[in-house]
Amino acid sequence: MKKHIVTLAPLLALGVAAVLAQKATRATPDVTLAKGAADIVFTNGRIYTVSKTHPFAEAVAVRDGRFLEVGSAKEVAAFVGERTRVVDLGGAFAMPGFIDDHVHPAQPYLQQEGGALLFPESYDKKQIAEAVAAYLNKHPNAPIIVGEKWAMGLFPNGRATKDWLDSMVSDRPAVLRDETRHGAVVNTAMLKLAGITRDTPQPRNGFIDKDPRTGEPTGYLAETAQQAVFSKIPMYPDEVWERALRRAMQQLTAWGVTAYTDASTNAPQFRVYRKMERAGSLNFHVSGSIPMNDWAKDRVIDPEPIVATADEYRSPLFDPVGRKWWGDGTPLSKTSLMVAGYADGGHGAMSVDQADFDRMVAEAGRGALVRVHAGGDGTGRAILDVFEEVRKLRPESASQPQHIAHNFFLRDEDITRFRRLNVVANFSPVIYYRSPSMSLLEQVVGAENMKYFANIKKTIDGGAHVSIGSDWPTGVVDANPLRMLQVLVTRKNPYEKNTDEPLGDPISLEDAIRVMTLGGAYSMRKESEVGSIERGKAADMVVLDRNLFEIDPGSIIDTRVVYTVFAGRIVHDARAR
Ligand SMILES: [Zn+2]
Repeated sequence: MKKHIVTLAPLLALGVAAVLAQKATRATPDVTLAKGAADIVFTNGRIYTVSKTHPFAEAVAVRDGRFLEVGSAKEVAAFVGERTRVVDLGGAFAMPGFIDDHVHPAQPYLQQEGGALLFPESYDKKQIAEAVAAYLNKHPNAPIIVGEKWAMGLFPNGRATKDWLDSMVSDRPAVLRDETRHGAVVNTAMLKLAGITRDTPQPRNGFIDKDPRTGEPTGYLAETAQQAVFSKIPMYPDEVWERALRRAMQQLTAWGVTAYTDASTNAPQFRVYRKMERAGSLNFHVSGSIPMNDWAKDRVIDPEPIVATADEYRSPLFDPVGRKWWGDGTPLSKTSLMVAGYADGGHGAMSVDQADFDRMVAEAGRGALVRVHAGGDGTGRAILDVFEEVRKLRPESASQPQHIAHNFFLRDEDITRFRRLNVVANFSPVIYYRSPSMSLLEQVVGAENMKYFANIKKTIDGGAHVSIGSDWPTGVVDANPLRMLQVLVTRKNPYEKNTDEPLGDPISLEDAIRVMTLGGAYSMRKESEVGSIERGKAADMVVLDRNLFEIDPGSIIDTRVVYTVFAGRIVHDARAR
């Protein structure tokens, strides 16, 4: 061993380029070179690194999943050894892999993989009855029928009743969710199973619809009232979660995403992530978030057992650091707390209280990353107050970012607090352009409040850390980061050739790319690991079919992902499809 060190020392001093020059004349393979050679090199590209000091590079060398060198084609060529795979990008544009800092990857396909009864919200009552009959025919032994989703417009007040469902399923418990998934109808057998009677008190943040004359439950349950039902339905086995997650992950990889924040991570997801990472098939850096005050939309979750064992799941790719609270609902349905109130009066409310605030302070104090959903500016302000408390009680925690998601509305005086308190502002901008639903939002909150709508530019200019999440599949069709990018830089409808007026202030392409890469990395507390193309960082990269800096911002959505590179491996190749 000693001999080798002596031999290598002068070679190292010469520098790799000099060693390369000597290579041809050496009779034996050079040990230094073999050790210094890259596993893979991507060269001849226009690589946007998101690094402040060297924003563009031509080539990268990767070894053991990390960037070994980032620089000119010539500089990187020095790392090409006999076994190095060289990928010629042919002048293509590349950048760090996208980071989706708020996505629910278990959700898009869970019901489908679990074999639930699914029908589109366009179905009329007759079509639903046929779908239910066909399902019963196919699953004669299903002990409970779980399905979705019926259009609220089918019923006079948007609420279906047990009589309607009884007429289709009467011999076993059944529940069918409405199109918003905020409410559901159950049949008589399910009311019985869930123990819901005329005497059941109304739950907090939800309601049991009752007949005004008889007091009997009608079968329609909203928000948390559904918990009594879903707690009676067995959780899907891990195989179902795994299939659902894998399908969503495949999509995310094809869209160029290499890291994400799983915004509601349940126990089966913990196990699936671990299994996939051990098998070498997890192609993402994942930051988990344990749901703390709500149910995870698929059943009631008691967070305590998951919190107690979370740290055992920490691994190079999966970080169970997050604790997720739903601080409110959405301003659109007036379930968010607004400082100035809604157009027709009322301020809405939060879905968290002092006990939740205390727990947030405790979790943050113990190093957890508190992530709170806040739609209204009143909710955002209250959560910032909580983080104010955290910083006061635990000043040593100041360097650990906390997180508020959505921020549909933020007051100017609160925007400045994000930077001071080191709280990441996470936005979900994909629908932030003029549309019927945004007009409806304006009607609900009033024109005055719209001045404070999704002010991403002001938040960035205020020096806050900003990140972007798709929130897929909640209210959005996909998690395509290029669509989000286009909306960020135009704030116009990406489907309508951008002829509309912007809704709010666009941000620059540089800022948009940064918040969708390094911004997400910071939010995940992984900024030293991912988010930019720099020496030593994880070799995650996306290669696109056009240079984002050279095209009309209104056509970003037409960009195609050529390669997604994770840890130096090409995990998506558009040409191979
Ligand atoms: Zn979400």
